[in-house]
Amino acid sequence: MDVIQSFTESAAVFVQTLLCYTARMVTELTVIIRPQDEHNMTLIKHKASDELVRKGIRCKLGELTLVQIKKSIDARHGQVKLCIRYKAYIGENPEAAEQEAVPQWKAAAPDAPRVIIVGSGPAGLFGALRLLESGIRPVIIERGKETPRRKQDIAAISTKGIVDADSNYCFGEGGAGTFSDGKLYTRSNKRGDIGRILRIFHYFGADKSILTDAHPHIGTDRLPAIVNAMRAKITELGGEFRFNTRCTGFVMQNGFLTGVTVRSSADGADVAEQTISGSAVVLATGHSATDIYELIARTAPGALEAKTFAAGVRAEHPRELIDAIQYHGKKDAARLPAAEYRLTAQIDGRGVYSFCMCPGGFIVPSATGPEQIVVNGMSSAARNSRWSNAAIVVEIRPEDIPQTYRDQAAALGCPALAGLLFRTELERQTFRHGNGQAAPAQRLTDFLTHRSSEDLPDTSYTPGVTPSRLDEWLPPFIADRLAAGIQEFNKNMKGFVAPDALLVASETRTSTPVRILRDKETLQSPALPNLYPAGEGSGYSGGIVSSAMDGEHVCKAVAEAVAAAR
Ligand SMILES: Cc1cc2nc3c(=O)[nH]c(=O)nc-3n(C[C@H](O)[C@H](O)[C@H](O)COP(=O)(O)OP(=O)(O)OC[C@H]3O[C@@H](n4cnc5c(N)ncnc54)[C@H](O)[C@@H]3O)c2cc1C
Repeated sequence: MDVIQSFTESAAVFVQTLLCYTARMVTELTVIIRPQDEHNMTLIKHKASDELVRKGIRCKLGELTLVQIKKSIDARHGQVKLCIRYKAYIGENPEAAEQEAVPQWKAAAPDAPRVIIVGSGPAGLFGALRLLESGIRPVIIERGKETPRRKQDIAAISTKGIVDADSNYCFGEGGAGTFSDGKLYTRSNKRGDIGRILRIFHYFGADKSILTDAHPHIGTDRLPAIVNAMRAKITELGGEFRFNTRCTGFVMQNGFLTGVTVRSSADGADVAEQTISGSAVVLATGHSATDIYELIARTAPGALEAKTFAAGVRAEHPRELIDAIQYHGKKDAARLPAAEYRLTAQIDGRGVYSFCMCPGGFIVPSATGPEQIVVNGMSSAARNSRWSNAAIVVEIRPEDIPQTYRDQAAALGCPALAGLLFRTELERQTFRHGNGQAAPAQRLTDFLTHRSSEDLPDTSYTPGVTPSRLDEWLPPFIADRLAAGIQEFNKNMKGFVAPDALLVASETRTSTPVRILRDKETLQSPALPNLYPAGEGSGYSGGIVSSAMDGEHVCKAVAEAVAAAR
């Protein structure tokens, strides 16, 4: 037995020695350090070397090159630590190995087939680039304006309370993604190659850190330039953008979609309806395009299906308070970024959860029409505002929708619209309780104890807030679950229920209440053949990265169908 053991040990030593002196190799390892040591490469290399020894690999420090692949903060158990995962190159040149591949886009030939993409959000833009990989010319129809002019309309929401129904936080170049927070994390890692989407964002100007951060974030101040660079590339390769152009109808021939009708407006003046034809139509209009759902309901009601969505409020706290809770009061010493949180609870069989958390961010007015108030959140790359906010929403299943909206949807011949009708009414009701775009709001403690807020704390929401009894007028199946959920949150994140915490209504657009059904194989709408629903509005994705992946996925199917038909 001893002989065998000693032989095994000798063999292990021999292998280690062999690795030590002959290997040019690459392996992965994790180093755990204090946040203030993040840039101390001597310390990090020593720790990495210790980790390699534990793996049975010995090498000289001079032969070791570390390339960061993921970074996360672990603030559990009263201590804040940085966990950094590296690719360790031993005797290897990482340069060649680390060449980040981006797709090979081709210029479309003059006689290339044209595919119409309705909507220039992440699904539309990444879809257009995917079509260019196959030499297909994308024609992108966008109801909103280019980013510089869109910025003016967005400013007018806060300064004048005016919401342009075609140019706002959700509509315009780059879609809802352009003035979003630009958080690029998604849980839908089975849907595609997240790394590919991040590499494309990096290629178009996003910081390299998005390739390695556990919670990559671009920031609303950087997104417009990235979206502009994507448009420039698509145009350079033969794609076409038509801004101020709203899709108003579908053109069908023999039960097959051959194009769309559009209405353009140039400087407020409406131009007559036109038809645009293409080999296929990709519908990437996002979840705020109520008119598109209504159009489909009129044309082919069976194309839609009701789905679970969520609604609630935005909670806003002083950033310092959230940082102190999450970092156990040690943020400044460790020079850490504004702290995040993610909270969930189950109340009466429904999820209540935080969503789209914006540390050091702002609450923004993201209505897409007059007489509605919708709130959302964003932050700049530096995440340094005085506040931290998050949506706190309640899961709403089709069976939770009050009967009156189900009756209305049935009367319209499309029961799937019930959730959308409910959402629309909740946004109008919120407007009635507000003052222009000043949103109805209540202190969190007053919401829980059913009291009016005599005054409200300072807020990042620039149109302003007005005191309101959200606890009284929000539908009880939302208000009661919100209250119970928040009490649960406070058990896990003590201090979340704080006198200076504010609830602002209403957060209604976390996901679509309607799905545009598509065939599993062809990805076309069975009820509207040759229509390819894509992105968040289709109900098959949510958020920037998953919508970008879905746009690519759908456009790959389109490219295959177009090639097969030629
Ligand atoms: C303020 C804010 C912050 C957000 N923050 C984040 C975040 O940090 N991380 C994240 O992952 N997600 C975030 N989101 C959500 C994210 O922006 C969306 O999930 C994503 O943009 C969806 O992509 P999409 O391409 O499917 O649709 P959209 O981005 O909604 O794009 C749809 C496009 O279609 C156009 N359109 C609609 N109807 C028509 C029509 N009839 N004719 C022509 N064009 C039409 C619209 O103008 C729009 O440009 C945020 C959203 C908002 C509003």
